Amino acid sequence: MKIFCVANQKGGVGKTTTTVNLAAGLAKVGQRVLVVDLDPQGNATMGSGVDKRALELSVYDVLLESSTIAEARQRNEQVGYDVLGANRELAGAEVELVELERRERRLKAALKAAEAEYDFVLIDCPPSLSMLTLNGLCSAHGVIVPMQCEYFALEGLSDLVNTIKQVHANLNPDLQIIGLLRVMFDPRITLQNQVSEQLKAHFGEKVFDTVIPRNVRLAEAPSYGLPGVVFDPSSKGAQSFVEFAKEMVRRIAAM
Ligand code: ADP
Ligand code: MG
Repeated sequence: MKIFCVANQKGGVGKTTTTVNLAAGLAKVGQRVLVVDLDPQGNATMGSGVDKRALELSVYDVLLESSTIAEARQRNEQVGYDVLGANRELAGAEVELVELERRERRLKAALKAAEAEYDFVLIDCPPSLSMLTLNGLCSAHGVIVPMQCEYFALEGLSDLVNTIKQVHANLNPDLQIIGLLRVMFDPRITLQNQVSEQLKAHFGEKVFDTVIPRNVRLAEAPSYGLPGVVFDPSSKGAQSFVEFAKEMVRRIAAM
């Protein structure tokens, strides 16, 4: 079982879209996948066809050790992967965890118990470097960083890279950046091509080969409670995420 955080402390950069579509893509190529929603907004939960308002147990209960993953996970058969859901209740965990021991290792311990059941765990992180994100980073083998090729993209990246280095040094020696994923890419925009080239010059192999285009079907899918890969498999966006899933499987095999 390989565990990856989808993280970037900026909001609206495509973390949740990447999480649910990579999960659906991996499921499509035969992988057993669990999505963990670590964002109190619950977008990955809703976007995987699970109603966050109807959750009896969620990732909140798992972090507070009042539930196991096996008890709390949900599945919408149409999407083909399991979800450990989140809702607003999770915002409270931030404060409650501070009081507890092993507070940054709660998720890691819970995932250990589910080890035999999954090939991939994808953790959708909130847009902050909080205790929730720290639980994600402490659990993971690697980080997938979705980013838009815009002017301030590289600047924002240095904070995340420093955090990952610190977690690697102090809490989780397994942790590494698996790769940077260029998302919402529009090849007609000169600046995006320039930033993309800068990224490759600076991060080399760490930049995924697959590029996710800006595609309206990916943006529409969440309102149907589905990942774009399931909602409209023939769309450019869906196809690029299935391509990305295959690239991930290849990269992990070589790891
Ligand atoms: P985050 O989780 O980082 O806040 P989201 O995945 O929710 O970001 O994406 C932010 C917005 O951009 C959403 O409305 C989403 O539907 C849209 N979006 C994400 N990726 C794409 C894409 N490749 N093409 C078009 N719209 C996208
Ligand atoms: Mg999100």
